[in-house]
Amino acid sequence: MMKPKIAIFSLTGCEGCSLAILELEDQLLDILQVVEIVNFREGMTERGWDIDIGFVDGAISTPEDKREVEELRKHSRVLVAIGACACLGGINTLKNHQPASEYRAYVYGDKAEWFPTMDAQPISAVVKVDYELPGCPMVKEEFLRFVKCMLTERPFRATANAVCVECKKKGVLCLYEKGIICLGPVTRGGCDAICPAYGSKCEGCRGVVSDEALAAAGVNLREQYDVPLDRVLADMRFHGAYQEKSLP
Ligand code: SF4
Ligand code: SF4
Repeated sequence: MMKPKIAIFSLTGCEGCSLAILELEDQLLDILQVVEIVNFREGMTERGWDIDIGFVDGAISTPEDKREVEELRKHSRVLVAIGACACLGGINTLKNHQPASEYRAYVYGDKAEWFPTMDAQPISAVVKVDYELPGCPMVKEEFLRFVKCMLTERPFRATANAVCVECKKKGVLCLYEKGIICLGPVTRGGCDAICPAYGSKCEGCRGVVSDEALAAAGVNLREQYDVPLDRVLADMRFHGAYQEKSLP
């Protein structure tokens, strides 16, 4: 049986999501029994372009990113965005709220014209994306579940509940009770509520779970904790989950 050919690419980001694949030390040898990795800059020198499933981390943040992802789309039968940067634009989108001339001068000084840049976007803004595995970094367990679904030709379904559901199951004291604004009520679960479980607020790295959750949070948070939805939406800018009109 032919092994599916897998490739992993990185655009603008810290490449932590690609690294998460290399960190699957206990499962990597088993994975390699059933798939062939043909292109993975972080892990090998060979470059193959006949690709069944292409995984991409990082955002579109430069004209070169845009050209690259268009090329990857042509070579990949299935294209999967991994991580908040690829799925939402990620922390790269913070620059979108500042004048380009200012951040370009701050980062590149008088050499700014050497480094073309543009507003950061998710890769779905440029090419068709077949699946998204969000998170900062992506959740390794979700990646493994996705790979198993693809290998067994079963449908992959993204988690449909908010982070709060997983947080409640763990019995964590809600951070709102401590006066901390947490994005769990509006953020897609599947991360096992890892941040609230360790006492840190959810920062929305898995994107908005649904319009309904957002509408409910708008009412509940105001009534229960006197937190206006605008305050929640402002925090959701951090990973690009909210960019003014880009909500679901
Ligand atoms: S989503 Fe987070 S871990 Fe992944 S590339 Fe972006 S910044 Fe890095
Ligand atoms: S701490 Fe955050 S994720 Fe947990 S229940 Fe409260 S709002 Fe939801």
